[in-house]
Amino acid sequence: MDTITAIFKEKKLKLTPQRLAVYKYLMQTTAHPSAEKIYNDLQPEYPTMSLATVYKALKTLVEVDLIQEINVGEGNFRYDGNVASHPHIQCINCGKVEDFTSFELDHLNIEASKHTNFKVLSNKVYFYGVCPSCNK
Ligand SMILES: [Zn+2]
Ligand SMILES: [Zn+2]
Repeated sequence: MDTITAIFKEKKLKLTPQRLAVYKYLMQTTAHPSAEKIYNDLQPEYPTMSLATVYKALKTLVEVDLIQEINVGEGNFRYDGNVASHPHIQCINCGKVEDFTSFELDHLNIEASKHTNFKVLSNKVYFYGVCPSCNK
């Protein structure tokens, strides 16, 4: 709680209960939920919070780099409390998105630099496959 307060202060963000709730929710999950999923899960505890408010809180948190937006190509975004660069894999059957935790692709930036005049800063890589429960 104290860390969140300090982080928000450093980012000059007002500590609204909505922002706190959304941020805390994302820090506790690696499920890469959509805004709707976050909204539904927070409903019991925050019954007055609207979906629009969840969207607004997410947008603000993305802007200050506290969370990241993931676009696996579904037409809607998913959100990740882990802002470090890391690859993702999505199940083409159930839509579940997971992190690669011990698979770094930062060396790709150096590889890519050899093929462009751009200064390469980052990359976003999404893999697609079938998860263990769908593969049974
Ligand atoms: Zn699956
Ligand atoms: Zn992730």
